[in-house]
This record gives sequence, C-alpha cells and structure tokens, in this order.
Amino acid sequence: MSGRYTFTIIKPDAVSKEHIGPILAMINEAGFHIEAMKLTHFSKHQAEVFYDVHAERPFYNDLVEFMTSGPVVVAILEKENAVIDYRELIGSTDPANAEVGTIRKKFASSVQNNAVHGSDSDENAHREMDFFFSKSERFNRDGDCCTIAY
Ligand code: ATP
Ligand code: MG
Repeated sequence: MSGRYTFTIIKPDAVSKEHIGPILAMINEAGFHIEAMKLTHFSKHQAEVFYDVHAERPFYNDLVEFMTSGPVVVAILEKENAVIDYRELIGSTDPANAEVGTIRKKFASSVQNNAVHGSDSDENAHREMDFFFSKSERFNRDGDCCTIAY
C-alpha cells in the first residue's frame, strides 16, 4: 500500500496535442480526486531540480529540454493507495511496453515523450507536491481547503 497522495505532470507533448481533457477524464474515471491543479511552464532550473535524480543519465539534458519545451499541467491526485494505483494507470515508461488501457499506451509517442509523470514513492510525491503547491491551493473531496492529513 502507498499513501493517499500522488503528483502528476501532463507533459508538453500531451498538452500540445490537446490531450489534457482526455487524460484528466481517465484520471477521474480511475477514482482519483484532483486536489490541486495548474497550467505552468517549467523554467530550466525547475526542470533540472525536479529531475535531479537523473542528472547522471545520458538522457538528462534532452529530458530537461523536452520538459521546458512548452506548458505542462501539474496536479495533486488523492485516492487510497495513490502512488501505486497511479503508476499502474499510467503504464510503463516506454509506451511500447505499456499495457492496453494505460495513459501512456494511449497518448505517449516515445520513451521520452511519454505524456505523463507519476511519483514513484510517497516520499517523492510529497517532495513534488510541495515543489509546486502550497496548502492553500489544495481542496479535498468536500471542497474544503487546507485540510491535509498525511
Ligand atoms: P516519470 O518520472 O516521468 O513518471 P518514469 O518514472 O516512468 O517517468 P524515469 O526512469 O523516472 O521514468 O524517467 C523520467 C523520464 O525521463 C521519463 O518519463 C522519460 O520522459 C525520460 N526517460 C527515461 N528513460 C529514458 C530514455 N532511455 N531515453 C529518453 N528519455 C528517457
Ligand atoms: Mg520517475
């Protein structure tokens, strides 16, 4: 089991192809509540910090360039077992290996341009959520603000 919160990015490839709506529909249909959301554009510095775990990987510079190539949607998703269930909903990093019915199978075009990000642990989910959202930008299922119970 994982905790109740995960963090997602609808990446520049999916935003530019007008896939925000269909991806959000899949997220809602899978039972996730969107607790916070905004359209933004990563600065180079934000992308470098966000993906600093991959700094030594050969694809890092291309990844930073891709993530800063256009606007993205960032969101906090709430549901029981959120991190694990959302990783299942998005599918494998490489869409060629993603299961039918996953977001990446449907909307990703390559291992880099893979439509969405999903946190890989509770610890990283919290780090990523706090990177983009303050407490006052989060609204629970009842519409109430600022009531976060980790
Ligand atoms: P994300 O963290 O975005 O949810 P992930 O956890 O499935 O994706 P990671 O291994 O964390 O995969 O890689 C982060 C991102 O770096 C990938 O989503 C993809 O955009 C890019 N990436 C990963 N592997 C490669 C690769 N071999 N070539 C090019 N880009 C890659
Ligand atoms: Mg990852």
